[in-house]
Amino acid sequence: MKRFLLDTHTHTVASGHAYGTVTEMAKAASEAGLRLLAVTDHAPKLPGAPHEMYFRNFKVIDREMFGVKLLMGVELNIIDHRGTVDMEEGLLRKMDLCIASLHTVCLRPGTKAENTRTLLRAMENPYVRIIGHPDDGRYDIDYEALVKGARARKVLIELNNSSLTAGACRKNSLSNLKKILGLCERYGQEVIVNTDSHFPSSVGRFDEARALLEETGFPEELIVNTDLERFQKYIRKIF
Ligand SMILES: [Zn+2]
Ligand SMILES: [Zn+2]
Repeated sequence: MKRFLLDTHTHTVASGHAYGTVTEMAKAASEAGLRLLAVTDHAPKLPGAPHEMYFRNFKVIDREMFGVKLLMGVELNIIDHRGTVDMEEGLLRKMDLCIASLHTVCLRPGTKAENTRTLLRAMENPYVRIIGHPDDGRYDIDYEALVKGARARKVLIELNNSSLTAGACRKNSLSNLKKILGLCERYGQEVIVNTDSHFPSSVGRFDEARALLEETGFPEELIVNTDLERFQKYIRKIF
């Protein structure tokens, strides 16, 4: 499998439970051989997350550091079963990249039908380009509907490396990811592998995810991480 050049889901000290600065994360990305890093701190509704002013001032940040292109975005919380996210449109428009994720502190798991509909509705938001860690078994999800919905809406499904590491709080991630990958292969849905790093040393480290991709024989042409242009077509921002 070719080298991965991008990591588009990472957190800085601004998230409240992560510990690197933007500059430290960019340096770590450079050292890990990445060409592109996206910083996606948690949106305001997650406890400890920054005020929206943090997101409003991204214009001051260099979009290239240590030879790494930098995107400044957000990991949105889905806050109700209508798929609403916790950022207003005027600010969403300014983000280089928006990931939408389910977090139990922001939305209690519903029935399988509710959870599935919630993610499908979140994907209807045109600013949402990636569904983060859909493998979390605390939310029962119809993965076939999710994958078909993502394909129809041209949204990426995330393979979250941190879900596969020891101590992950999500449930049944390995078996769920095998199901998700099987469906992505069947329907020709592209995936993005992200570290969800909360500390610089894990930026660009995809070992567990790569092992799973190899074990399942997942087709390399459906992984966007090996080519910046394949990722570019999912977002508006030109980097
Ligand atoms: Zn998350
Ligand atoms: Zn995250």
